[in-house]
Amino acid sequence: MGVMTMQTSGQTEALLHRKMLIDGEWRDALAGEVIVVENPGRRVPLGDVPRAMAEDVDLAVAAAGRAFPGWSRVAARDRGRLLLTIAEALEARQEELARLIASETGNALRTQARGEAKVVADAFRYFGGLAGELKGITVPLGEGMLSYTRREPLGVVAAIVPWNAPAQLAALKIAPALCAGNTIVLKAAEDAPLAVLLIAEICHAHLPKGVVNVVTGYGRECGEALAAHPAVRKLSFTGSTAVGKAIMRAAADRVAPVSLELGGKSPSIVYPDANEDWVLDGIVASMRFTRQSQSCTAGSRLFLHADIFDSFLERLSAKTSALKIGDPLDEATDVGSVINERQFTRICGYIQDGLDRPEARLVTGGLPPREGPLTRGYFAVPTIFADSSNDWRLAREEIFGPVLVAIPWRDEAEAIRMANDSHYGLAAYVWSRDIGRALRTAHAVEAGWVQVNQGGGQSLGQSYGGVKESGIGREMSLEGMLDSFTETKSVNVNLSIPPAA
Ligand code: NAD
Repeated sequence: MGVMTMQTSGQTEALLHRKMLIDGEWRDALAGEVIVVENPGRRVPLGDVPRAMAEDVDLAVAAAGRAFPGWSRVAARDRGRLLLTIAEALEARQEELARLIASETGNALRTQARGEAKVVADAFRYFGGLAGELKGITVPLGEGMLSYTRREPLGVVAAIVPWNAPAQLAALKIAPALCAGNTIVLKAAEDAPLAVLLIAEICHAHLPKGVVNVVTGYGRECGEALAAHPAVRKLSFTGSTAVGKAIMRAAADRVAPVSLELGGKSPSIVYPDANEDWVLDGIVASMRFTRQSQSCTAGSRLFLHADIFDSFLERLSAKTSALKIGDPLDEATDVGSVINERQFTRICGYIQDGLDRPEARLVTGGLPPREGPLTRGYFAVPTIFADSSNDWRLAREEIFGPVLVAIPWRDEAEAIRMANDSHYGLAAYVWSRDIGRALRTAHAVEAGWVQVNQGGGQSLGQSYGGVKESGIGREMSLEGMLDSFTETKSVNVNLSIPPAA
């Protein structure tokens, strides 16, 4: 794979020309077109990848189909061992992977990208270790019958991932799908395909050809063809709710199973006894400000008890404005850039809406500066609005940017009602030293994942996914792998046939 150089503001940057992995070979798109990948923190091209169309998808699905019989018959423990080898190889290249993630996503290297690169290796290690757990059961149907189940792989899995945590999400699809004995065609996001292609390179070095195939292309040209492909036996999608619905419709045509990890507008409910410093840190973490809040689980609706509303917000504002925004590759940076101009403009549109709304009060942040170093990339400023209503656009729509809306409450039932008044149901956060009421609230909130008194990210081994329009299915655990990437076959054997004549 070649490199070419270009001159940018006095520095010479190497442009990366990457190809897709199809059937164990590095390929250009058949039509020969490419997609330019930008470094959004510097607004310069990073490189390019093939612009795959339906005919490229056909090749990848056919390769995965040919590889399936062989791979599915490799003993599960041997598949697991290969995943563990890949985990080692990924770990050896963790810093390279982290730098690539930071360069193509704008996520800060120190606060985000290194952590993501670590999870990539961890995911392969975790699922590699689970290979021995692909067990069936026996059913006690009487002495005359042996009844047992087998966990069988589905076949060719099509996976589609977004750009916000591209490497982590790709690993969380490839590793469980392969562990269960499937082969895979994964479509990387057009804005962030490079780290995924590095994972593909490492997988390729250790796996038979065709087991992992990675295509790069736009949703309409490549993703749709993959979702609609008749030879795909399972669709695993992470992305927006709107596209998730289209994926589900495509799957319905051939009754293919789907896993959907979609959007969110997650509530954080703060009780009056939680007016403490560690809770402020937890809110900054749960809002994912150091990921520019480009996270499906961002706690972007802050329901603060009225008694502490002003003092909490004042101190939260001080914490938030102390975060250092800057070049993602700079070790001093806490908050990097958003992914692209379209998202940047969209986020600014929401902030302008907040500024124009008479009922809303800007607590901190606002529109990005028009001059100075932050205009070199797509840098949005962490922003908080205070408002009394859960009903306006900023409190209802997933912004996928650093805009937090704080809403006061007095009555617990009212806080829960507002928290649940959303078509999303991905994550939720509850903050109180009174564990009884915190758990009462955690159980009443409509969300797939609730955290009490902490705001960090998901852990391998816990079933993770959404309710309502935030998705269907769970993939990050043993049960998730079994439910999402295998089907159960029941075998009944008659043990009491008459003796041969
Ligand atoms: P998106 O839905 O626009 O794109 C996601 C992926 O789908 C990309 O690879 C894209 O090319 C592809 N795609 C787009 N249109 C398609 C189509 N018609 N058919 C097939 N594929 C298509 O989402 P995005 O803007 O890249 O990502 C942000 C969204 O992802 C947010 O809504 C966020 O909440 C969600 N997300 C959810 C989770 C989760 O775990 N629930 C995790 C990360 C991101």
